[in-house]
Parts: sequence; C-alpha cells; structure tokens
Amino acid sequence: MAAEIQGITLRGVEALPVEVEAEITSGMFSFSVVGLPDAAVRESRERVRAALRELDVSIYGRIAVNLAPADLPKEGSLLDLPIAVALAAEKKFFALKQAAIYMGELALDGRVRPVRGAVPAAMLARALKLPLFCPVGNSAEVALVDGVEAYGVPTLKDLLLHLRGESSLSRVDKNMPPDVLGAVEPDFADVRGQSQAKRALEIAAAGHHNILLVGSPGSGKTMMARALQGILPPLSDDEFLETLLIRSAVGLPAPSDRRRPFRQVHHTASTVSICGGGSDIRPGEVSLAHRGVLFLDEFTEFRRDLIEALRQPLEDGFITVNRASGSVTYPSRVLLVLAANPCACGWRGDPVEQCRCSSVELERYRRKFSGPMLDRVDLYVSVPRLTPQELLELNNATGESSTDIRKRVVRARAIQWERKKLTGAECNAELSERQLKNNVALSAKARQYLASMAERLRLSGRGMSRVLRVARTIADLAGSPGIEASAVAEAIAYRDAGVLE
Ligand SMILES: [Zn+2]
Repeated sequence: MAAEIQGITLRGVEALPVEVEAEITSGMFSFSVVGLPDAAVRESRERVRAALRELDVSIYGRIAVNLAPADLPKEGSLLDLPIAVALAAEKKFFALKQAAIYMGELALDGRVRPVRGAVPAAMLARALKLPLFCPVGNSAEVALVDGVEAYGVPTLKDLLLHLRGESSLSRVDKNMPPDVLGAVEPDFADVRGQSQAKRALEIAAAGHHNILLVGSPGSGKTMMARALQGILPPLSDDEFLETLLIRSAVGLPAPSDRRRPFRQVHHTASTVSICGGGSDIRPGEVSLAHRGVLFLDEFTEFRRDLIEALRQPLEDGFITVNRASGSVTYPSRVLLVLAANPCACGWRGDPVEQCRCSSVELERYRRKFSGPMLDRVDLYVSVPRLTPQELLELNNATGESSTDIRKRVVRARAIQWERKKLTGAECNAELSERQLKNNVALSAKARQYLASMAERLRLSGRGMSRVLRVARTIADLAGSPGIEASAVAEAIAYRDAGVLE
C-alpha cells in the first residue's frame, strides 16, 4: 500500500510529500506515530481518534503510524487528515483505489479545519499528478492554482464516504487570479499639496527606488507612504503566484486583486515577526511585503539589531531563516519606504512650531541617518507641514488620481523591462555601477553638468550612482532614451544631504 496516502509538510513556501502508513495489531491499546515530535503526536492522535469515533470507527489495539521520511521535520496538525484516512483504510472502512494527497486539521467532531500551506500543497499535487483533498476553507486559494485536481473537504465523514463511493465531494473549480486592481485608499488625489514628495513617490514606483520621507508630525508622511501602493504596477501572473504562496504559508487568505502588498512594521516589532522564523517557522513581514512595499515608520526609533537583521533580505531579495531543524528560504524583494521626523523633537523647519533641539541633539539625530539601510535608499525627500494659509488655498484643488499616475509608472517599468536584455536588471534601482556606466546614455550636457555638481557637492562614488539611477528613471518616465541635464538636476535634488541640512 506504499505511497497511497500522502500528507505534506512545509519547508519555506514549498510543500514536501510525507508518506503515511498505518498498522493496527492486537494487544494493549497504544498509539504511536513514528516521524513526528512527541507533543504534536499527542495532540494529533486525540483529534484523530475523536473524529473517527464520531463515525463509529473505533480503534483498539496497538496502532502504529509511520510518517516517512522519518528525518524530515513535520508539523502535526496538517497531518491529521491523512493519518485518519490511513487508519480508516486499515480498518477496511473503505478500499483504497487511488493514491492522493490529504491535508487538514481535524476538530474533535470531525470537521476539517483550514490550514496554512494549501497553495504549496496544490503545487505539489500538480507536480506529482495526484488529486488533493484539502479543507473546504482552503478551496478559494487552491482554486487559483492551475491544473490541479482538488476537492474541498468539509468533514472527515464527507471524505470517507467519498472514498467509499457512497457520495461525492465536489471538485474545486479553477478560478483565475483576479484581473483587476481595486481602488487603493488613500488616493493621490486626496493628498493636498506636497508636489515634490508626490513626484518622488512616482519616481520610486517607476524605478523601484527605496525612499525616505522626512517631515514633522502631521505632515502626511504615513498617508503618502500608503498612497504609494495605488500607483505601483499590478502584480504579474508569476508575481501574483509568489505572493499567494507566501500568504498561504502564513495562513492568510488569497489576495482579492492584483495590488502589491503593503506591510507596515512598528519599531517595537520582534525580529521574528519581521524576518520570519519562530518555533513553527513561518515567513515574516519582509516576505509578506515581497513584490510590494515595506514601510518603516519612525525609522530612527528602530533598534540596531532589527536594522542589522533586515540588511541581508534587503540586499539579496531573499531571507534565510536558520533553525535547529534546518534552514528555510523566503523571498523578500521589497520597495522600502522609510519615514522619520526631521529632528528629535520633530519640529525642525516647521512653519509654525519651534524646534527645541540643541545642536548636540541635532548632531546625534543626524547620525541615525547612516548605515546599511540608508545606503540602499535612492530618494531622500522633505515633506514639510503645510501652513494654514497653504491648506486653505489648496482646499478645493484636486490633484492627479492614483490611476493616472500609475499609467506613467507602468509605461516606465515596461521600458526598463525591455532594457533588461542589455542590463540584466529588472528595474533601475537594481542597476549596478558597471551597468550604469554602460547603459545610462547621458547627453554631453548632462555629463558636463553632473561633473560640475559632483565636484561642488562632493558627491561620493555611491552618491553619483544614486543620482544616475534616479535620473535614468526620470528619463524613463518622460519616455526619453537619453538622460538630459534637467533629469540629472532633479535627481540631485533627492540626494541625502537635501533633507538633513
Ligand atoms: Zn527639534
């Protein structure tokens, strides 16, 4: 009966097959499960026995369940269903006709509870060409995986009667990933004033540049960071599947449209919640933000160890979580948005309030704007609080909508995608120094201008590359093959010194 009943276990966002075999022999009652940690076995066997008892399938004697391979770490609750099926088969409750994958946690009354990892399981089932029996609560996400024969299981009884041929479970209908991009709140049209910051966010979206917003409390930094989600291009089919997998591995429902993720983390958050891990290893916020935005508000308040922990995932686009049971890798390509106050008291440069910081405090605060995270930021933007007068004047003015801005962003991304053949980089933010030298197409005037500014502003090599990357995106937004001096001038306005002087 080998390999007839399969369960799964998760490693990262991948499902691995687990073969489930059961044997019942006469003797004193015992229930052992080989290949699962003790605590999980205890819980699982209680649920399985209770659920089977509901169906009048009583189990006596010595029960041995074998989960193979034995050395593979496994999560207990996912395996309730295949263990129950294996025992019912052993008790001849039904005759096993076909190999399949089963997954689900059992309630004591036999209901099958939704679990995390249904999407990875569906992909495994597709690869192995086996039918998948999953909790009915996971059907919606499984429906998004093409080419899999899946059945949603409400209760253990429904499943066993199906296997016995007495009734049949309905097959999960294939569902296309949603084609639409729903309305994202807030809309850029609702953001009053702040034309420079809006422009910088458009550039960030177009070239996938990390961005820092510096402004006093009440200037609207958070609102603008949130609005960024609405001007990003919709997820492609592949990207949608990537985000679906990660959400499934955490146990979150499938996304309802193609908007990119937006995840905000607080400075009091734990390293595990941001980077992933924990006793039952799962992805963290940096992976849930994959292909979307990771927003760190009050960036200067973040602990050093947290910033240090984020360094590798931001650099590599994936994060490796090491546990005793082995290491797991999750994707983490994010657009990083940082927000911070301009000084410790928050009011430096404010049109109304007075800054109370001493020069020592100002200097100490300024030093927080360096290090591995800031090195990866291309755009530094001031977000000044508007004066009451400005607010009044802008009261009736409506800005451009997110939908209109997004059209330009999508065009600029398409240009970068075309250039990928030459550069290997998907977006301008990923252009390396060498690629920049060969592919930026600076006009003679722009080159001259950049050289003079570099000298005057003492731009470092890194500072120069930053300017070139941003200038390339500005040119792409304008649909211009070459980079003109005006694009360089605008890019220089977003350099780091600008917001902290
Ligand atoms: Zn201050």
